[in-house]
Amino acid sequence: MRVLITGAAGFLGSHLCDRFVADGHDVIGMDNLITGELGNIAHLEGRKEFTYVRHDVSTFIAVDGPLDAVLHFASPASPVDYLKFPIQTLKVGALGTHNALGLAMAKGARFFLASTSEVYGDPEVHPQPETYWGHVNPVGPRGVYDEAKRFGEAMTMAYHYYHGLDTRIVRIFNTYGPRMRAQDGRVVSNFIVQALRGEPLTVYGDGSQSRSFCYVDDLIEGIVRLFERGDADPTNVGNPREFTVLELAKLVLEKSGAKSEIVFEPLPTDDPRQRRPDISRARSLLQWEPYVPLEEGLERTIAHFRKTVTD
Ligand code: NAD
Ligand code: UDP
Repeated sequence: MRVLITGAAGFLGSHLCDRFVADGHDVIGMDNLITGELGNIAHLEGRKEFTYVRHDVSTFIAVDGPLDAVLHFASPASPVDYLKFPIQTLKVGALGTHNALGLAMAKGARFFLASTSEVYGDPEVHPQPETYWGHVNPVGPRGVYDEAKRFGEAMTMAYHYYHGLDTRIVRIFNTYGPRMRAQDGRVVSNFIVQALRGEPLTVYGDGSQSRSFCYVDDLIEGIVRLFERGDADPTNVGNPREFTVLELAKLVLEKSGAKSEIVFEPLPTDDPRQRRPDISRARSLLQWEPYVPLEEGLERTIAHFRKTVTD
């Protein structure tokens, strides 16, 4: 297969490029580096199966030659990033998705959208099944990301039903692992970097809000299975084991051996109180489930950051 992966220089996009290359496919990785880093794909440089193209996918996307698949992963994903780039986030979720769908149509390619658990907003149903419509504040600070992703899902379903395009939508729940940017502001990278630098771990609010953390290798396996044998309806992929943010902070201290203190800072506006995927659909449709427990995933991620974080 010959595939286009947008957001290729990002955390997840780069792991996805690795997986498709390892599976014997030709990959065009596209990115405008707004939140990504070329270092994430430097090891693929020079491989004949991999081509990097710098391009903003919110503008028309031109690709020469045939394509069998378009996997659209471009978008700022950390709340810190999308608050810094609100308009770009709205554009890549809306215009970028439209352009990527149009390209898939023109090439007769399968389309795969990276959506998010944020489509459920601050959920009033727990855990969240795909049938839950969500509880999103469209005009709050997170609305730029949540509503762009919701629009992207609606656009993808419209191309599926109206144009008969072969499509997939994955709703990704908090994923972590090597290649997260040290400064991207997400909780796992923040806590690890703070611990390794001997700085206080910044817990927002009282730390009783929950998340369910999925190790990147588990996520990529779920994505590949959804791509290969899934269907057009949205599918949650995440690890259903739920932790409070305070529990996560303590686990990072334990696994890193750091002696940092924990400090409490204000909770960001509209920060979801709880989040846990119902993965019944992924289990039955894809025979997928996550295998890497948080303890082990943190050890691997801490080992990665030890190599890259300097005081
Ligand atoms: P990331 O910020 O590391 O990667 C996103 C990549 O997209 C970056 O390399 C960035 O430069 C690129 N990009 C952004 N706008 C672009 C544009 N207009 N044109 C070209 N490239 C552009 O984030 P990530 O964690 O790897 O997330 C990847 C995808 O997965 C995103 O769509 C995100 O919404 C989704 N997702 C991630 C998570 C997670 O936990 N990591 C959770 C839910 C959804
Ligand atoms: N968080 C925190 N300290 C940090 C960064 C994040 O307590 O230094 C909290 C944040 O308020 C949220 C959770 O950790 O409740 C997850 O935040 P993240 O930015 O990783 O992603 P989200 O799930 O909110 O999109």
